[in-house]
Amino acid sequence: STALLAGKKGLVLGVANDRSIAWGIAKAASDAGASIAFTYQGDPLLKRVKPLVEGLSERHLLMPCDVTDEASLDAVFATLKETWGTIDFVVHAVAFSDKDQLKGHYMHTTRENFQQTMLISVFSFTDIARRASEIMNDGGAMITLTYYGAERVMPHYNVMGVAKAALEASVRYLAADLGGRGIRVNAISAGPIKTLAASGIGDFRYILKWNEYNSPLRRNVTIDEVGNSGLYLLSDLSRGVTGEVHHVDSGYHLVGMLNMDSVSE
Ligand code: NAD
Repeated sequence: STALLAGKKGLVLGVANDRSIAWGIAKAASDAGASIAFTYQGDPLLKRVKPLVEGLSERHLLMPCDVTDEASLDAVFATLKETWGTIDFVVHAVAFSDKDQLKGHYMHTTRENFQQTMLISVFSFTDIARRASEIMNDGGAMITLTYYGAERVMPHYNVMGVAKAALEASVRYLAADLGGRGIRVNAISAGPIKTLAASGIGDFRYILKWNEYNSPLRRNVTIDEVGNSGLYLLSDLSRGVTGEVHHVDSGYHLVGMLNMDSVSE
């Protein structure tokens, strides 16, 4: 159906440009009839995000938000309350770590970067979930973005892997906190996609190739595919699903070792 989110209103954090995973999800939600409040991290990103938002068909809001700045989060939620009164969904697609520590060994992570990574990539989701729950209609949905590096050791992912493990645990606790109101909380574990954030990860091109050659579908996923899976998790199609980490990764997470027959195909 094209009207899976007809009349629904949602907050989307994490669009930096047209390659952002948040943008893939926002497009799918907008096409399904939702109105969306977008945030952008700061003025340098506004010139990229504004034309994207203006090109969408539905009515949308656009406001700045840095998740490390409580005042900016206060302002976002005050605006949502004032303008819309209530919301139906949240998409959290925000993460950050010092790129000098997204290469080499995990054990060299500094105290300062550990704290910053956890604050932006983990706590922000809990903070936003609490704030959003105060204006969310019963039966609403929240999603965040994670990666397989939470479950298994991936080269260079380091402190971000530790952060994603904590983020996935947060999804389960938040799902339990909010389930009584029918509010569902899930994560999408996306396969590697070439985005601004991913370009900070060491040997990212090699990781993309590895996934392409070794995943069951023998290719990488796109932001449109993640977007459509996001639409499922935000809509009533997934009404019985909460606390889940849903892999949209061409099946890579199930591979122990490839059959040599399929390698030479
Ligand atoms: P992206 O660079 O397009 O998006 C990352 C976003 O985080 C940007 O919009 C940036 O402005 C925002 N951000 C960072 N620090 C912030 C702060 N302090 N306040 C507000 N916003 C802040 O890259 P992306 O790959 O689309 O990343 C989105 C999410 O997807 C991240 O959580 C990332 O870890 C996750 N993810 C990405 C991949 C991949 O391969 N690209 C795979 C799995 C999961």
